[in-house]
Amino acid sequence: MKVVVVGSGGREACLALVLARTADVVVTPGNPGIPGSVDTPPEELDADLFVIGPEQPLVDGLADRLRAQGKVVFGPGADGAQVEGSKAYMKELAAAASVPTARYGVFADVDEALAFLRTMAPPYVVKTDGLAAGKGVLVTPDLAEAEVDVRAKLAGEAFGDAGRTVVIEEGMTGPEVSVFALCDGVRAVALDPAQDFKRVGDGDTGPNTGGMGAYSPLAWLDPGFADDVIARFVQPTLDELRRRGIDYRGLLYTGLMITADGPKLVEYNIRFGDPDSQVVLLRLTTDLAQHLHEAATGNLHTNPEFDPGAAVLVVAAAEGYPTAVRTGDAIQGLDAAREMDGVDVLCAGVADGPDGQLVTAGGRVVEVVGRGSDVPTAWERAYAAVDRLDWPGLHHRTDIGMNKGEQ
Ligand code: AMP
Repeated sequence: MKVVVVGSGGREACLALVLARTADVVVTPGNPGIPGSVDTPPEELDADLFVIGPEQPLVDGLADRLRAQGKVVFGPGADGAQVEGSKAYMKELAAAASVPTARYGVFADVDEALAFLRTMAPPYVVKTDGLAAGKGVLVTPDLAEAEVDVRAKLAGEAFGDAGRTVVIEEGMTGPEVSVFALCDGVRAVALDPAQDFKRVGDGDTGPNTGGMGAYSPLAWLDPGFADDVIARFVQPTLDELRRRGIDYRGLLYTGLMITADGPKLVEYNIRFGDPDSQVVLLRLTTDLAQHLHEAATGNLHTNPEFDPGAAVLVVAAAEGYPTAVRTGDAIQGLDAAREMDGVDVLCAGVADGPDGQLVTAGGRVVEVVGRGSDVPTAWERAYAAVDRLDWPGLHHRTDIGMNKGEQ
């Protein structure tokens, strides 16, 4: 099977790596650290399957344009992509599907937003309605800070038009879990759950990022957890989408918080999470190309299976991430990290430098995945590999996979 992966980050590097176990893979545009990267746009490529990695092209209707050319695509059309493109749509859909989620209000008017905010209890949660690369969410115990954030978002100062509508939510507490579901329009199957680490600093301190690390499996969850999420969250949502005439073929990512009242939906995404899907996909023992092709053709029937061992992913970030990112620094130690046993190295934000060496070109530069029979072994490998990497200002968390969500 020939597969085209659309995208250029760590998620696409991982999809390409895992798909290449059984398929011929091309990545567009990819990056100089991802084998098989080409400049040709996906509309001009031929393949048996197109897998669209990031949310923005899905929201912009790339899947529709490719399907109109007769191509087989894993990824929802623009109609289904609203699930991530608008948090207000996602909350309304969840309510219509009777999915448990935080109480919320949607506002474009500052006074109405502030009045609602003041009726909530801490922690206060303020979200931009539109896409904001995982950075449009403020969670704070401080009402004054939340008020400033509401004003800034509604004034278009933060996130421009994507922020001109805000969603204000009840704050939830509890460990977070990511469940990835492959959907074929009618039915869904779950992949093994993972947990990601969104704050930039150890101990969940500092601002939210796109994700600083992840691990899988989550030994502290009930074995039937993912199937339960399909039954109570994903299937009712897929049914509601179908009722609305939306044929959702692709990935539905369920971000959950395990609250004192049980699991509740934090968000749906329309694509593989980055970096949490990497630790799941690298543990897959069945054929990813076949699973995605089945979903894309409305014919899901093979159950994914996973290595019982663990994977721990650590993001090596550029100086300044997630705020003012410095780029163009030469990356040292990639080959030394790659040659370690039980280690995969995924190039996320890299570019060609002047002397043929890769340089930093984004906030999340390199993702290192350690694998082993259990989380501590995988952890040791991931951190030994990260220690071999170097560039000015490199930073990473030191606590990925440790003491988080254990119950
Ligand atoms: P989102 O982009 O909606 O996933 O939000 C990003 C992160 O903000 C989540 O992973 C949570 O850590 C946090 N968050 C979002 N919504 C809530 C909420 N209602 N209560 C507490 N934390 C939240």
